[in-house]
Amino acid sequence: MKIAIVHNNNEKSLAVTEELKLLLIKNNFSIDKRNPDLIITIGGDGTLLSAFHRYAHLLDSVRFVGIHTGHLGFYTDWRDYELPELVASLVNDKGESISYPLLDVRVTFQGRKESSHFLALNESTMKRVDGTMVCDVFVKDELFERFRGDGLCVSTPTGSTGYNKSVGGAIIHPRLEAIQLAEIASINNRVFRTLSSPMIVAPDEWIRIKPITTDGFILTVDQLSSSEKNIVELQYRIANERIHFARYRHTHFWSRVEDAFIGAKNKYEV
Ligand code: NAP
Repeated sequence: MKIAIVHNNNEKSLAVTEELKLLLIKNNFSIDKRNPDLIITIGGDGTLLSAFHRYAHLLDSVRFVGIHTGHLGFYTDWRDYELPELVASLVNDKGESISYPLLDVRVTFQGRKESSHFLALNESTMKRVDGTMVCDVFVKDELFERFRGDGLCVSTPTGSTGYNKSVGGAIIHPRLEAIQLAEIASINNRVFRTLSSPMIVAPDEWIRIKPITTDGFILTVDQLSSSEKNIVELQYRIANERIHFARYRHTHFWSRVEDAFIGAKNKYEV
């Protein structure tokens, strides 16, 4: 098995990286950054997001494993003190894997024939920082509403615990095939009206966003962000591609959610 390691640069992650490399070499694994079968990330969920974008061209053939150097994460099953157990699982690997849906993002620009295409693991947002974002929201090809506010966030099930949750979106179990549209500070009064609640669309549906004002946007795809103008349309749907994780053990999804957002201490406090 050829393994690539992606790490962040904090002191702990660098130390864990060195320790893991030694263990892998001792167990006859080869380290291959260019064409790996397995990608191990060391850091946090953010580090796994970076690795996903770095290796997006290999999604069909690679599996990911996340080691967290802090708390347990949503994409990271292993803690930094569990390297021997992880390497033993790699030695006994039988191709165990689990896959999750990704978000397909297509952006059409004025005056360009080809649309730009991105894949998101967590979410994509469109925001306007200088003034209100006004856009028409379509579900499939039917106009649903005219949105006015700071922006919109479209997320995957695994991304639903990220930015989506902070803007009031629901947490979606990652076994569900769905994408979610959540509002960011919508304007609602006697004149302007939006749904004002998150919306989860079916696997065969897509969301189109057509800005009324075409400039001054910030478009994000996971941790990547760019200032954009002349956007004619954004189209979001579940991607054909999926992300595959090597799964040697299972942490119940709702336990992860409880651990990340509630914690035993808060549960019993009165
Ligand atoms: P960051 O600003 O350095 O970190 C944002 C935080 O989001 C980190 O604590 C990260 O966990 C956590 N995170 C990432 N993906 C998550 C997921 N699927 N579920 C729960 N928490 C998650 O940015 P980053 O590390 O490059 O990650 C970019 C992502 O951060 C975005 O895709 C967005 O989902 C999220 N984000 C959230 C907010 C917000 O909630 N207001 C703002 C900006 C970005 P780790 O500490 O384990 O890395």
